[in-house]
Amino acid sequence: MIPFNKPPYTGREDAYVIEAMRSPHLSGDGPFSKKCEAWLGEQLGCSKALMTPSCTQALEMAAILAGIKPGDEVIMPSYTFVSTANAFALHGAQIVFVDIRPDTMNINHELIEAAVTEKTRVIVPVHYAGVGCDMNAIMDIAQRHDLIVVEDAAQGVAAKVDGRALGTIGHLGAFSFHETKNCTSGGEGGALLINDARFIERAEIIREKGTNRAQFFRGFIDKYSWVDIGGSYLPSELQCAYLYAQLELLQELTDVRLRKWNRYRDALSTIDEAGKISIAKIPDNVEHNAHMFYLKCRDLEERRQLIGYLRDKGYMAVFHYVPLHSSKAGVKYGRFHGEDLHTTTESERLLRLPIYHGLADEHLDAVIGHIRQFYS
Ligand SMILES: *Cc1c(COP(=O)(O)O)cnc(C)c1O
Repeated sequence: MIPFNKPPYTGREDAYVIEAMRSPHLSGDGPFSKKCEAWLGEQLGCSKALMTPSCTQALEMAAILAGIKPGDEVIMPSYTFVSTANAFALHGAQIVFVDIRPDTMNINHELIEAAVTEKTRVIVPVHYAGVGCDMNAIMDIAQRHDLIVVEDAAQGVAAKVDGRALGTIGHLGAFSFHETKNCTSGGEGGALLINDARFIERAEIIREKGTNRAQFFRGFIDKYSWVDIGGSYLPSELQCAYLYAQLELLQELTDVRLRKWNRYRDALSTIDEAGKISIAKIPDNVEHNAHMFYLKCRDLEERRQLIGYLRDKGYMAVFHYVPLHSSKAGVKYGRFHGEDLHTTTESERLLRLPIYHGLADEHLDAVIGHIRQFYS
């Protein structure tokens, strides 16, 4: 069976992980953590990056930094991973879901402003499939209403919109280095990007269990103590060593993935043009990272059949999110603002095809052949 995903592996990870293993510093904020943070800062252009054990925890830190308290409202799409909402619901926020645009599956920025109330604090654009949201429009709304923008750029590492790296445009941005993403810190990992310098000092405190330990190590204070709320949001050096090997080769990892993505697109566009499926259209101002290749079937039933057809041939294709507003916790902690014109219907049609660094062209071509067969 050809899986839907395999974690990327370059071969350089081994040497760095062994180096970290043998060093006297295994816990967080060591040399490899700092290398990863410097790389993210320099290559992507954010004022500060802090490594975290996951994107979920980076989002949780963002919710604390945004000062979320019970009754506050946070705007996001319903078509996203649970962590996007959970991070804010943990602090008592009411999640306000806004419909997506069918071409990118991203939040429809034209619907955001109508959902803003006096309780709104944060907007969370999710860059689905590494295709950037319209950040100019979103930052403009945030500025006019004095809101904080937290980009869920879990899937958006090495992608850009209007020439700027995803994750570096909002006040805060969250990356994932989970094994299902384009590069990984050995299975689990993430980073919080801080693009508004007023959050840096507090972010370091929150990440260090609410202590001013980071300032202590820099010699700014002579002892450290409990100064704020926080958590244990540091990944180990082993994770960062693994990731650093992949960051060094990120351009190559992305190029390989883009070639595979383009191969799918070129081959499947005739079925798209015949009106039988629809494949993603990348907006002109977006440089995506080929995180995901999906097509949309006619409906839920046709998707079920195609999944079964491909599985019988030995290929895993998978659907994606159940919209959060229709989930048990989504009903409890959120509400949908406006009409659900696209979120449910588009999510029921969407099918993700196998795409990963080590996917051989012959398998990719076989998937294409089976899809052609299915639709002929
Ligand atoms: C993967 C993902 C997350 C969670 O990332 P973790 O690192 O597993 O916590 C959050 N949001 C989106 C959109 C994701 O795709």
